[in-house]
Amino acid sequence: MGNKKNDKPENKGGENLKKFTEDADLKSNLGRIKHKIMVLSGKGGVGKSTVAANIAVAIALEGKKVGILDTDFHGPSIPTLLNLNDARPTSDGKSILPVNFTDDIKVMSIGFMLPNHDDAVIWRGPMKMNVIKQLLTEVNWGDLDYLVIDFPPGTGDEPLSVAQLIPGSDGAIIVTTPQDLSINDVKKCINFCRQVNVPVLGVVENMSGLVCPHCKNVIDIFKKGGGEAMAAQMGVPFLGRIPIEPMIVEASDAGKPFVYHYSKTEAAKAFSKAVEPILHIPERETSKSGPDENLPAKKDGNLRIAVPVAQGRLSAHFGHCEEFALFDVDTEAKEILAETRLAAPPHEPGLLPVWLAERQTDVILAGGMGQRAQGLFTDKGIKVCIGASADEPQKVVTAYLNGELILGDNICDH
Ligand code: ADP
Repeated sequence: MGNKKNDKPENKGGENLKKFTEDADLKSNLGRIKHKIMVLSGKGGVGKSTVAANIAVAIALEGKKVGILDTDFHGPSIPTLLNLNDARPTSDGKSILPVNFTDDIKVMSIGFMLPNHDDAVIWRGPMKMNVIKQLLTEVNWGDLDYLVIDFPPGTGDEPLSVAQLIPGSDGAIIVTTPQDLSINDVKKCINFCRQVNVPVLGVVENMSGLVCPHCKNVIDIFKKGGGEAMAAQMGVPFLGRIPIEPMIVEASDAGKPFVYHYSKTEAAKAFSKAVEPILHIPERETSKSGPDENLPAKKDGNLRIAVPVAQGRLSAHFGHCEEFALFDVDTEAKEILAETRLAAPPHEPGLLPVWLAERQTDVILAGGMGQRAQGLFTDKGIKVCIGASADEPQKVVTAYLNGELILGDNICDH
């Protein structure tokens, strides 16, 4: 998980570029996720993580591909809830791969990055945010229908910073308990969502009544309905009540997702009901910089080579080419398997490295390119060959495959 280079920009332009590429990285990395759902609570201990985990599993039980991202520094409990305390994410050399709980549920947690459970609490603010940024930009979730994000509790700086790092969230689920105090905290959560421009998907009233272990009826030991009344008053949807269910504690401690293992219980049914509206959130337009429809899927073991093209030939001016020719090649057979032409994206600083990385480019064969751009491609794991002559792209690639490509000077060094 090495940090990116140019951490120390020498000037404002460098800072802007860093911010731009970070934002673009975030957008492109999260662009393959159809829905991002934040789970918030006004304070700790109301069952936020329990609700986040069970909602994620309930969504997966509806046949969706789900990721769970645990950003709760104060008690990253998702690994415990899913019996993943000993699991660690792996890497494919380019990005971090989340832990697979099942084929359809992937998990990433701050807890996976700590030698001891309590270590995160002592991290300083900026360090925490760098970790979150890294999780958001470097974890490769693949294609997901839903990413459920368990937030740090409260409405302070930490959840605020995390919310600001997540582009295009569909909205937030707010978890509360029926007592007055926590309802007040929820009002703060709703205002928080308005502040960060995130819709409130709804309020879940957790620990609402007790399931009698004998007769299985729900007994209202505290007052109930506070969450529902407050939701109505604040004009946000109410997603339902989850009763206090002793089996939730037992299942959670054993790392068994409650909704799956105790699907017949009132509480599990309540979770399933709460996710119904979430399953019907309309899909947003996918990220504009998302992979193109006509680009074939890259097969394992093949290499993808990009050539900048202008007027049908390799363009000497990399940043100003008209289109890119992307070649999928078999390096053993030294054969071009497919060629796709894509219009070049807008000429914006820092965009091309992100755009080509998104399209799984391994190598660029170019005429000329500035030093800074070369560094940005190298950071993305893309090899750059400079000094190729302005020939037909196919010829250039064939020569490269046969080890016959002659590289001259950097034709255009800016
Ligand atoms: P938070 O994330 O808000 O700090 P947790 O999800 O860690 O809260 O839950 C706190 C404790 O409450 C855990 O022991 C959990 O098992 C328990 N809990 C949560 N929801 C329920 C419920 N509906 N019934 C019984 N226990 C619950």
